[in-house]
Parts: sequence; C-alpha cells; structure tokens
Amino acid sequence: MKDTYRHKGLRIKLVETIRSKGIRDENVLETIGKIPRHLFMDSGFITFSYQDQAFPIGEGQTISQPYTVAFQTQLLEIKPHDRILEIGTGSGYQTAVLLELGASVFTIERQRKLFLKAQENLSMLGYKPQFFYGDGYQGKPTYGPFDKILVTAGADDIPVLLKAQLKVSGIMVIPVGGRISQKMIRIVRRGETDYERTEHGTFAFVPLLKGKED
Ligand code: SAH
Repeated sequence: MKDTYRHKGLRIKLVETIRSKGIRDENVLETIGKIPRHLFMDSGFITFSYQDQAFPIGEGQTISQPYTVAFQTQLLEIKPHDRILEIGTGSGYQTAVLLELGASVFTIERQRKLFLKAQENLSMLGYKPQFFYGDGYQGKPTYGPFDKILVTAGADDIPVLLKAQLKVSGIMVIPVGGRISQKMIRIVRRGETDYERTEHGTFAFVPLLKGKED
C-alpha cells in the first residue's frame, strides 16, 4: 500500500473539512494533512479513509474521527518534547499525530491484537513511541510524570491514578460519561492538589475498559 497523489489530494480536502468544523491550530491541521490515514485502516475501508468519520479497526474498536483526533490534540496544546501518555493506542493514528508534533509518546493498549498491529504499522512508517500492552487505568507511573495525558476511550470517571501522573501545569484530555456519549473534559493541574476542569462538547467514544484482553 502506497501514499499516492490521490491520497494527498483527499487529505487536503479532509483538512479543509475539519478546519470548517472549527479546528484552528495550524500545526494540528498540517499534521492531519501529512499523515497517511489510509495506512492505519484495513484495506476494505480505504475508500473511506479520508472521510471525517470513525471506522472499525477490528476487536470491536474504531479509529477515531479525524475531527475528534484534531480536537483532542488541539486541547492538549502539544509542544515539541512534551512527554505524553496516551491511553488507547488503537490503530496508532493519534499516536502518529502526537509524534509528528514533536512529542515523546508513551502509549498503552489493552487489546493484544491491536497492540501488536499498531506496533508493526507505526514502526513500518518510522514512528517510534514507547508501546505498552496493559490496562491504561493504571497509567505508567515509572515513566511519569507527564506533560500531557490523552485518553481516547470513554471513561465513566476520571481515573485518580492518571491525575496523579500529570505534572503541575500539565494537561489531561479525557472523554467522560456513559456508553452512548461523553463530555470532552480538559483538566489542567494548577498545583499539587489543585485541578481545573473545563468541558468541551459531546462526543461518542468506545468505552475505556478495565484490565487487559488477549
Ligand atoms: N486513538 C485511537 C482510538 C482507538 S479506540 C485511534 O484513533 O485509532 C480506543 C482504544 O482504547 C481501543 O483500541 C481500546 O482497545 C483501547 N482501550 C480501552 N480501554 C483501555 C484501557 N483501559 N487501557 C488501554 N487501552 C484501552
């Protein structure tokens, strides 16, 4: 599978679509324009790769909608060299976006098949996050604290262990709610025990599940 001029042309259109939906961060838009999303999806879905939609990636999971990826990334205000903990590697597409923005990424996936597939795919494309197979609810305390924490599955509450792994002035973005829809929550750690919480609209994610799965 290659990245052709046709794919590049479709990406330009996709960038204009998500810009028109309100994404303003030029670095994020440029990154979406750069990454070959079709290489993160099963071949059957190639023709849909540059539509602004989520799609199945196997194991009952989905690659997030490009607008949602851009929205979460914009809220995180990524700077080069940020240490980022990502929960829910999935296809690895969001991981690639964070890496393109110059961050160091520590990414956790609980489904073994997706973990192995993302690892193979990202490595093939030259992306080098640190991969972990396990339960993201626990975070990765030995690698923290982190400048940013991104959760790409819907949580029923904000995991306390994750909050504790955020640096002071660090930012966490996490969808919180029920099975059908969640509110996008942004937490800024203002001090040792001081967390500022803001809400940024309604989204629909697959659920954040406890434990890991073979
Ligand atoms: N950003 C990914 C989104 C994948 S969907 C993408 O665009 O491809 C969310 C992912 O979170 C799924 O792959 C799911 O298996 C994973 N997940 C759910 N609960 C988890 C947990 N507790 N720890 C780690 N990963 C989890």
